[in-house]
Order: sequence, then structure tokens, then C-alpha cells
Amino acid sequence: MNFLRPRSIWMFFIYAIGCLFFFSCSTSPEVFLLRSYLGIPGTENVIKSDADKQGAREISVQTKEIPKSIIFIIADGLGIGQFTLMYYDISDFAPADFTHTGLMTVHPSGQRKVPDSANTASSMATGVKTHRGGIGVDENDIPVKTVLEWAEDIGMSTGLVATSSVAHATPASFVAHIDKRSKYEEIALQMAQSSVDVMLGGGKDHFSGEPLEIFTRKGGLVINEFDETIDTKQPLLGLFADNHLRSAMEDREVATLDMTRLAVKLLEKNSRGFFLMVEESQVDFAGHANNSEYMSAELASLNSVLRFCLDYQKEHPNTLILFTADHETGGMAVEDTSEGALDIQFTTGHHTANMIPVFAIGPGAEAFSGVYDNTDIGKQLIYFVKNH
Ligand SMILES: [Zn+2]
Repeated sequence: MNFLRPRSIWMFFIYAIGCLFFFSCSTSPEVFLLRSYLGIPGTENVIKSDADKQGAREISVQTKEIPKSIIFIIADGLGIGQFTLMYYDISDFAPADFTHTGLMTVHPSGQRKVPDSANTASSMATGVKTHRGGIGVDENDIPVKTVLEWAEDIGMSTGLVATSSVAHATPASFVAHIDKRSKYEEIALQMAQSSVDVMLGGGKDHFSGEPLEIFTRKGGLVINEFDETIDTKQPLLGLFADNHLRSAMEDREVATLDMTRLAVKLLEKNSRGFFLMVEESQVDFAGHANNSEYMSAELASLNSVLRFCLDYQKEHPNTLILFTADHETGGMAVEDTSEGALDIQFTTGHHTANMIPVFAIGPGAEAFSGVYDNTDIGKQLIYFVKNH
């Protein structure tokens, strides 16, 4: 037969060697991701150290304990000014109840210092630096496995909650891999194809069409009206607005607290534990708008989420609660009038490079004391999940 002739066999070997060479050397994101999923050396998550500042950590901290479950709260755009407003606004200031605090840098890769939510969330999700706009990729747009994907691999349940569109930069960075945050349709498609168990927020417009079809075809349940009594084993996608939810000042479609509570209720059933990221997305919007009233409403919402998570941690001591921001927005400072009333001032309508406080409580919380880079958050979370 023809294909058994020696020449055909040689051609086959040359072809096979060519394929193997392409597979091992290609820098294509898809091929890289495949190699990473196959566990081929050289594609581990932390592909290079980002200890580019003196004093920054080079490796994750080995802690005495490893958390069973992790709730990671990100208040987008929250810096020291916003914290100070929160402190004076709210009598029950929840951040004071965390046991460990740290301070982190948030710059993107390259020379710039001011970040965006894509590069910062990606660094906290993956442990590597990336450029502004990069979602779950490194600075060369190579996909990097996120803590959420590591958690899925070992059988933990996973969830994402946001008050923006679910396809917005922060939640997207935990599960999508793409060079530009503005590619919402592609991001929604990747999120619909993912194995995340619970996704709650806005974004009907981004998910309409193919992403929704894919999500339902794989057995997912889509809801557009919030229902706290819902109890399902199906993957759940709750989209409660066309794009972002309304602000906390304008009677939000569903409170961040209620989405958080529902996500925890569904995820905690897994005896292997869970990883949940909750984003209070609109602290950032209030900062861009230089609107202190809007800011106060978002901070009150955030405080209620923190209080719930801290109470949950007391009842479930094997849960780590990690709370921080991605970056600061507005260059906000708290000043006062001669009568002592708060006078909120902004220096910009954009983001700043200000360092960001980090709060932690629960097993492994001690790892977040000190001064470090935002990539260390990702490295540390991945360390926890890998040693779960
Ligand atoms: Zn922003």
C-alpha cells in the first residue's frame, strides 16, 4: 500500500517532528495555554519574577496554614483617601476588624506608573505583570493561568460577583485571556465557555447571542431577576442590567451584599472549598466622576459586604478573607471646613499610581503583612490553591 512505502514513512516522521517543534516553540497564546494545561515545564503560572522594586518579594510566603476557601474582595478605585472618607462616614468601619494589613504597588509593566483595572486585576489573578488593558495575559499577551483556574483544577468551586458588567476588566481578568479589555464580546464568549460556577452582575448586552447560547447549551442557568432563594447545582449566570448595575445611590437592581450572600450560599456546598472574587466596581466610577456623594454610597455598600464576610469568617475559620483595591481613582483627599465638616477634594478624573492598602484575616493572612507588589497577591493566592 502506498502509505507504507519508505518515502511516505519518512514524510510522516518529518511532519510529526515539525508539529512537535511548533507545539513546543510556538508563542501563540492558544498553543501556550494548551502546553500550560498539559503541565509542560516552562509554562507554570509564575513565569518570571516581578521583584523589580527593592524590598519586593521574590517568592510567595510559606504560611503555617492554608485556607480551605478564599473570598477576595476588590473595591475598584479605593485608595487611602476613600478609606479615610469611609472611616468618618461609617460608625461600623469593617476594615478595622481585619488582623493583617499591607501596602502594595500597582504599576503596569513597562515605564508607566499609573495602572488600569485590567493590568492590576490580571496581576492579582495571575502573579505576573502585564500592560494596561491586558486581561489574564502577560506583557507579551501570552495567556497566564489565573488563581480561579487553578482553583477549578483542584476541584474548588469558583465564583465572580461585580456591580459592573461581568465582562468588565476586573472579573474578566480572573477567567478570560485577551490582549484588550475592550473586546467585550470575545471576553463574554470566553467567560461563557469557562467552568466558573457562579457569575453575578451586569452585562446582558455583552452576553446576548452566542455567549448565552453556549452557556445554556453546557447546562448553565441564566437569570435576569435576582432571587435569593435560588438553589441550583447548574452553573449560574445572573445578569441584572444591560451593562453596569445602577449606582448604590440610585436603588441598585440588587445589592452587592445580596449577590455576595447568594454566591457564598451556592459555593460553600463543595467540601473542597471555594474561591470567590467580589468586586465593588463603582467606587472607581465615583472617583472618575469626582462625586463624593456617589463615593459615600458605594463605600456604605462595600462596608456591608465586608461585615458579612468578616462574620462568615468567624463562623468558618478555615476561610481567608482578602480585601484590597486594584488602584486608586480620583486622587482623592479628605479635607475639612472650619466647622469640621468633611470636604472631599479630587486631583484628577483618572487613576493614580498611589500605593494601595491590603487587609486579610483567616488562615494565611500573615502573608499579606508588609510592603510588596500586586503580583505578590497573585503568587500568594496561587500558592494557597496549589498547596490546598
Ligand atoms: Zn477606572
